[in-house]
Amino acid sequence: MVKKNYYLESIKELDTIKNLKTKPRLLLHVCCGPCSGFPLEFLTPYFEVTIFFNNSNIYPKSEHDRRLSELKRFVSIFNYEHHQNVQLIETRYLNELFTEKLEPYKDLPEGQERCFTCFKLRMDEAFNYANSHQYDYFTTVMTISRQKNSQKLNEIGLELQSKYSYTKYFISDFKKNKGIDRAVEIRKFYNMYQQLYCGCQFSYQKFIAKNTQKTED
Ligand code: SF4
Repeated sequence: MVKKNYYLESIKELDTIKNLKTKPRLLLHVCCGPCSGFPLEFLTPYFEVTIFFNNSNIYPKSEHDRRLSELKRFVSIFNYEHHQNVQLIETRYLNELFTEKLEPYKDLPEGQERCFTCFKLRMDEAFNYANSHQYDYFTTVMTISRQKNSQKLNEIGLELQSKYSYTKYFISDFKKNKGIDRAVEIRKFYNMYQQLYCGCQFSYQKFIAKNTQKTED
């Protein structure tokens, strides 16, 4: 199957948006500070952006809270330096419920069905919020990550779009065209906390096991 160029699709959409008289409202699903830096730089010239932090996948709660507080710190600096007013909405932490949904895929490696389910659950919740609050667009920062499959993320976004009547999915591939390099630069410049594993209990256990192994060697 021929892979679509999602980066070019996003640029085409921006070309249309820049001719509008007012900035459309966009709800942006964000998983952590380091993944938010470049997408915020890329999107805020065109959209009125609101961040939606719904990441009950992250385990344990202390790690969830640490990522959220680092994101808040960065957004407040970003707003000040870029004369923006990006707001942040956070949802309740429901890790047990979320983990139950991932449990059937717990033994699969990262990047397969467990992750696709995890993407879809979070994107659907955020898309639903965007639609019921009449945001013009919804997207996720997750296409910035080298570890995350942009094609799959965009397929999920486009599939979800058919469920919602008001909000449009904004196609993205933030890692392309040196987006990933800029993301690393921003993370380093603001000395942001960089997590050591993706997030869920299963990725956490794998990380712990790997580290234990290393110290035993
Ligand atoms: S490894 Fe990351 S993307 Fe995959 S299920 Fe766990 S938290 Fe979700």
